Order: sequence, then C-alpha cells, then structure tokens
Amino acid sequence: MANRQRYNTCVVGAGIAGLNALFVASRYLREDERIVLVDRRDRAGGMWLDTYDYVRLHQPHEFFTAGNITWNLGKERGHLADKAEVIEHLQHCLEGIKQRVRVTELFGYEFEHAEEVDGTVRITCHSEEGHETTIEADRLIKAYGQRIETTEALKLSSERARSISPDDVDVWRSEMRASDAPVLIVGGGKTGMDTAHALITEQPGREVNLIAGPGTFFTSRDRAFPLGLRRWRTGEPPSLVFAEWARRFDGTNEDEVANWYRRNHGTWLTPETGNFFAAIISERENQTIADGLNKVVMDYLVDVVDRNGSSEVILKSEATMRFEPGSWVVNCTGSLLRGEYPYEPYTSSSGGVLSIQNRSVTFPLPMGGPAAYLLTHLLFLGKLTQIPLYALDAEELRRNAPEYALGSTLLSLHMYNLSMMAESLSSRAFMKILSEFGLDLDRWYPLPRRLMAAGRFMRTHERDREHHKRTLDTIAERFGVTCAPLVNA
Ligand SMILES: Cc1cc2nc3c(=O)[nH]c(=O)nc-3n(C[C@H](O)[C@H](O)[C@H](O)COP(=O)(O)OP(=O)(O)OC[C@H]3O[C@@H](n4cnc5c(N)ncnc54)[C@H](O)[C@@H]3O)c2cc1C
Repeated sequence: MANRQRYNTCVVGAGIAGLNALFVASRYLREDERIVLVDRRDRAGGMWLDTYDYVRLHQPHEFFTAGNITWNLGKERGHLADKAEVIEHLQHCLEGIKQRVRVTELFGYEFEHAEEVDGTVRITCHSEEGHETTIEADRLIKAYGQRIETTEALKLSSERARSISPDDVDVWRSEMRASDAPVLIVGGGKTGMDTAHALITEQPGREVNLIAGPGTFFTSRDRAFPLGLRRWRTGEPPSLVFAEWARRFDGTNEDEVANWYRRNHGTWLTPETGNFFAAIISERENQTIADGLNKVVMDYLVDVVDRNGSSEVILKSEATMRFEPGSWVVNCTGSLLRGEYPYEPYTSSSGGVLSIQNRSVTFPLPMGGPAAYLLTHLLFLGKLTQIPLYALDAEELRRNAPEYALGSTLLSLHMYNLSMMAESLSSRAFMKILSEFGLDLDRWYPLPRRLMAAGRFMRTHERDREHHKRTLDTIAERFGVTCAPLVNA
C-alpha cells in the first residue's frame, strides 16, 4: 500500500459492527467510490477469530449478519451457528458488500489516530512491522465495537491447580479432555454456561463445579424464539418486550424490573441471580447444565492455595472449599465492558467521524452491530449531529452501578434513541432503514405480528419518550455517569 491514499470512507474494525457500517456505506456510495477497511487482525470476523472453540451464537444465526445479508448455511432457522460458521458468514458478508462497492482491505494494521482538517479526515495506521500509512477520507467510522480481548488464565498461588483460559485451551480436544480431573468453572455467565455445557455433554460423569458469583439469569430462548407454528401463538416480538421493560424502569427500580423480566422471560440455574447481560440459553441447555453440575457456589474466587499438604479454594466471603490437586480451573469471568479506554464521543462535532465503542453508547441492542447500522445511516444522511441522541458511558456505569441497573438503562437508552430517530426522519426514510435491518429480532415472528409490533411502536414512542428521558436523567444523577446528549454535536 502506498503511503498516502484517498478514500470516500474509512471503516476501522471488521467485526459485526464494522461490517454493518460497511453494508450501509455501500447503500449510499457509487460503485466507483472507494472504502478502506482497516483491522489489526488479519481477516474479517472480529472477536470470533480468537474466542474459544466451543462458542456458539446464542441467538438464531440469521440475526447475526451485516444489513440483511442472508446466510448460506442451509440449516433450520433455529440453528445456533458455531465459531467456524460465524467466521465464514462474516467473510461472506464482506464478499457480498464488495460486489456493490470498491473495498480496499488493510488487514494487519492498527488504527492510531485521526484528525479532521477542512472536511478531510487524516487517519494514521501502523502495520505490525511498524510501517506507517496515512489515509485521507471524507468520513471515518471507528467500529471498535466491544473491544473484547481474549481472557487470561487466573493467576493462582497453588502449584497443584491447572489454571487455564477457555480461549487458550480447547476443552474438547486438549490435555484437559484426556484427563479426568475435576473442573472448576469460575464465572456463571455465557462463557461459564458454554464451558459447563461442553464438558457435561462431552464427558458425562466428570466432576464439574461452578463458582457463580451472584448468579446470572438468561433470556429463555424457548420463550424469545418459539419454533414452527408456535411463532404465531406464543412468545412476543422482542421490541414489545423491550418497550414494556423500558416503560417499567424509572432509573431507581432495577431489581423489581429485572425480577419481572426474569419471571416472564428468563431461565437460570443458581438459587439466586444478581447478573443479567442479555445472553440467551434454552430451558434444555439450562437443565442439562443444572443436572450435570456437581456443585454450585454462590461466591467469588479469590485464590487457590496449598497448605499443609492439601489445597483449598479461598472465596471472597472468606469461606474455603476443598480443592483436589490437579483440578482444572477455567477462567470464565467475562470480557464485556471490562476495558478502560479514554472517553470519546460517538460523533465528532463536524459529523465526519463516527465512533462506536462503550464510552458513548447510543444503540446497544444487541451489542455493536445495531449502533453501526443505524448511526452509519445517520452519518450518510447528514443527521449524525442533528439528532440529540442520548449517549451513555457504559464503562462508567458498569463500574458505578449494580449490574441490573446497567441492563435496564441500556434498554431505556435504546428505546429513547430509536424514538428520536423515528421523529427526526420522514417515516419513509425510517421505514427504509428498518427494511434492511437484519439484526432486528422481531423478524423471527410472522409478518402480521411484526407489523402489529411496529404499529404499536409508532403509536406510543412519543408518549414513552418523556418517561425514558426522565429515567436516563435519573441514572446520570444517581450514579454520576455521563448519560445525556453530546454537548457540541
Ligand atoms: C465469548 C463471547 C460470546 C459472545 N456471543 C455472542 C452471541 O452469541 N451473540 C451476540 O450477538 N453477541 C455475542 N457476543 C458479543 C459480541 O462480542 C458481539 O456481538 C460482536 O461479535 C462484537 O462485534 P464488534 O464488531 O462489536 O466487535 P469485535 O468483534 O471485537 O470487532 C472489532 C474489530 O475492531 C478491530 N479493532 C479494534 N480496535 C482497532 C484498532 N485500533 N485498529 C485496528 N483494528 C481495531 C478488532 O481487531 C476487531 O476485529 C459474545 C461475546 C463474547 C466475548
């Protein structure tokens, strides 16, 4: 690549967020206009390239895509794609977009910084070998998304514990699979459940224990995505559930609202729950894990130590647990919203730079893809700085607030901003945007039920918006976090 190149648009990040940005850009650009796609990894796929091998999508695969690009899998609708299938589909999305617009791939390059001068964004990137490249573009989309890092093994004092990260060790095929020593899973979220499920189904009878922290509840897949004809009669289009959830939340009653959702839409296996992070699990998976676990401990792991010839687990409550020497300890303590990144707004004051990350979140459901899809439309429509969307510092809220408050706040934020968008665009433009929004989970349901849900939103969103605004203001004040429209946008 020569040292200076000119493009219409530069997208940083080739995960689901970046590919959605690219998809939308391809709807506005002419065939001869050029986009450059920068990613430090060596291909499209984002975090899926490095995560543990037994991960599976927790929503039906069709809802993990760029725009409305369809999957080529040929499997039934409810199929939960595995890691290889997800990576292949994301590559297929990139290939599909390249049919419509010229994309230059700059893989293996780290985005360093950008400055806007006279309507041009000047972007500096480095290759691993230290080769510097400057890109000039009319607009820049930083689709860092979740910035998920691979998990490290826990550092434990005991020399008799075999501490591993699921990202480093393949629990299906590794040395761990060959041994029959007990396994201690630390963390009761999605990774913990995936790990427990993989072990319990592959090696029935093996001792698997779980340290579950405060306990996590999950959305029940059976209720959110009923199969076959049941889609006509049971379940509820998720947008209706989200709207109801946001209506119930007032910025102070997170426990009450989480319990309402858990009762009506959730599934869980621990005696109590204090966490919810939008992960989905079926009743059957839940039951298989619950039946297969040897012991569930509602506490946090502090260390495993060797004392007087034996080993024990030290817990946060100061309780201890016997630890069988040679046992495996798998770190499933989670990787979402764990980083500490400098603050940046979702848009620059000119509207030429869009940034999708956790410090300035606008459309969080589910994760980075929708924000990339919806905000890139606003960018190309010249509306990014014109609509006073609320932006939440989710990293800050994660640190300052109980987990349940985070989930409900993200819901309120999503509903408020969607309403602002609906109000600020013509209904034709808004509907056109939604018509290619493949991440919209309502698409699981038959058309009449989806239309009913859409009609309900259009009828009620203005009235609900005032309530969501008060909720978000309450959250900002109560936890001292940034949750407001951008000042200079
Ligand atoms: C174990 C696990 C399981 C999950 N399962 C699901 C699931 O089933 N369903 C679901 O919807 N979500 C799931 N998620 C959440 C998931 O992270 C998101 O849904 C989604 O894949 C994240 O995509 P993204 O594009 O936002 O971020 P990423 O996939 O992380 O992509 C961001 C890209 O930006 C690149 N990048 C970042 N900074 C720079 C830079 N400075 N220079 C160059 N490149 C840069 C990165 O290399 C990366 O490729 C899961 C998360 C984890 C950790």
